[in-house]
Amino acid sequence: MTQAKASTNDTQFDVFAKVARYDHEQVLICQDNHTGLKAIIAIHNTVLGPGLGGTRMWKYATEAEAINDALRLSRGMTYKAAISGLNLGGAKAVIIGDPSKDKSEHLMRKFGRFVENLGGKYVTAEDVGTTTKDMEYVKMETNHVVGLPEIMGGGGDPSPVTAYGVYMGIKASAKKAYGSDNLSGKKIAVQGTGKVGLHLIELLHKEGAHIIASDIYESGLKIAADKFGASIVAPTEIFSQDVDIFAPCALGAILNEANINSLKCQIVAGAANNQLEDETIHGDMIKNKGIFYAPDFLINAGGLINVYSEWNGYVREIAFAQTENIYNTVLNIYSKSEEDNINTQLAAIKLAEKRVNDTMIMQSKI
Ligand code: NAD
Repeated sequence: MTQAKASTNDTQFDVFAKVARYDHEQVLICQDNHTGLKAIIAIHNTVLGPGLGGTRMWKYATEAEAINDALRLSRGMTYKAAISGLNLGGAKAVIIGDPSKDKSEHLMRKFGRFVENLGGKYVTAEDVGTTTKDMEYVKMETNHVVGLPEIMGGGGDPSPVTAYGVYMGIKASAKKAYGSDNLSGKKIAVQGTGKVGLHLIELLHKEGAHIIASDIYESGLKIAADKFGASIVAPTEIFSQDVDIFAPCALGAILNEANINSLKCQIVAGAANNQLEDETIHGDMIKNKGIFYAPDFLINAGGLINVYSEWNGYVREIAFAQTENIYNTVLNIYSKSEEDNINTQLAAIKLAEKRVNDTMIMQSKI
C-alpha cells in the first residue's frame, strides 16, 4: 500500500486550526493494519441532514494533502446540498492509496465498517478513484451508501445528470449575458472530454453550438470530433480561444492569475469542482473582467441530486426534473451578486450559508 509521507509541511500542519477555520463537526481517522486502510472521513455540517459525499481514493503525496482535501471537499458538499435545496449535510471521505494497486474487497469493506460506526451521520458514494463496484463492497457492511449500480436499485452513473445541470447553468448564463438562452451558433470551449464533458458536448451540439475541445488523452477527443464535429485544440490553448462560453470540465484551480487574463469569453460555466484557485481573488478578477461566472458547486450539483433521489426509490426523470431548477438558481445568484456587489461564487456561498443558518435557528426554537 502506498504510504503518504510525513513531510516538513506535515509537521507544520495544524489540523485543529484547519478544522476550526472551516468549522467542521467531526473528522475521523480510519486505519487498519490488516487491509492497509488509511482513510479520513470529514463531516463538515449536518444541520440540513446526514453528511453525504463521495469517497475519493488518491495517491496523496503527504498526509496533510489528504486531510486538506477531505476538509475542503466536505465543506463544498455542505454548500452544494444547501444551495440545491436538498435536506443533506456536507461530508467527504478520502482513502490514501493508489486505486489501481492498493484497493481490495476487504479494504473497501473495512472502510464500510467505519462508515457504519458513524450511525448514518455520514453517507458515502463513489468519487474519483472509486467505482460503483467498490460501493457494492461498502454496502456489504453498511446501508449508509448511495451511488449504487442500477441493478441494485441505485441511480448508476451520475454524469449525464451532472452534464444536464451544467447545461442548465450555461443556458441561464446566456440568458443573463445575451438576453436569450438559445445557444444555437454560440462558440463554446469545453476543457475535458471525460464522462461529464462528452455528455455536455452532446447537449450543446444538439442545440446547434460550435464546440472547441481539449483533453490530455485522445479517446474522448475523437468522440467529440467524430460524433459532434468539435474542433480540437491543445490543452494549453483552450483558455485563449475566441469563444462566447468556456466550460471547464476537467480539473480544479484552473481559474487563476495566469489563465484568467487569457480568457476572451463572456461566460465561464462548467462541471469541474473548485475551479477558482482562490474564491475571493479570482472570483473578483473574473467579475471585474465583465465575465459571468456560474458557481461550480451550484451547476455541477446534478450528480448529488441524482444520488439523493435514491433514498425515495430512484426515478431518473425526477432527478432530471429537480436538476432543471439549477437554471433559476443561477439567475438568482447573478441578481444577488449585483445587489450585494460581490462575485457570484461568494454570492452562492452566502445563499447556501443562509439556508443552513436559518434551518439551525428554526430547529433550535421547537
Ligand atoms: P473524468 O475523469 O471522466 O473526465 C475528466 C477529463 O479531464 C478526462 O478526460 C481527463 O483526461 C481530462 N483532463 C485532465 N487534465 C486535463 C487538462 N489539463 N486539460 C484538458 N483535459 C484534462 O471526470 P468527470 O466525471 O467527467 O468529471 C469532470 C469534472 O467534473 C471533475 O472535476 C469532477 O470532479 C467534476 N464533477 C463530476 C461529477 C460527475 O457526476 N461525474 C459531478 C460533479 C462534479
